[in-house]
Amino acid sequence: MEDCIFCKISEGSIPAKKVYEDEFVLAFHDIHPKAKTHILVVPKAHTPSLSEAKEKDEAILGKLLLTVQKVAKDQGLSGYKVLMNVNREGGQVVFHLHLHLLGGGKIDLEHC
Ligand code: 5GP
Ligand code: ZN
Repeated sequence: MEDCIFCKISEGSIPAKKVYEDEFVLAFHDIHPKAKTHILVVPKAHTPSLSEAKEKDEAILGKLLLTVQKVAKDQGLSGYKVLMNVNREGGQVVFHLHLHLLGGGKIDLEHC
């Protein structure tokens, strides 16, 4: 997907501080962290938003949550929040589906 920042990060054409990657998903540090640990978990395949996800996306949606679980464990987080902004009215700025993993103390939820 042209002009999609998270597609470019997935392809490696834009750098990011990656913490996990496999065939289907990628996790990397948010460039403007709103918590001590703020990691984004994204599918490699482009889907703009949860509101556009289809039946065929069931597996990848589960995979995203299990990736959050794995990354949180790797980061030593015993508790954390998971957030997904959906569409502009829901605070979504980057239109490539993603989950926010937030933990490690104070979380600036207002700006997530
Ligand atoms: P949204 O509001 O769409 O749910 O969240 C998008 C997130 O992506 C924001 O927290 C923002 O800081 C982060 N972000 C935007 N551009 C980049 C980038 O180029 N690199 C990284 N690592 N994070 C980004
Ligand atoms: Zn994309």
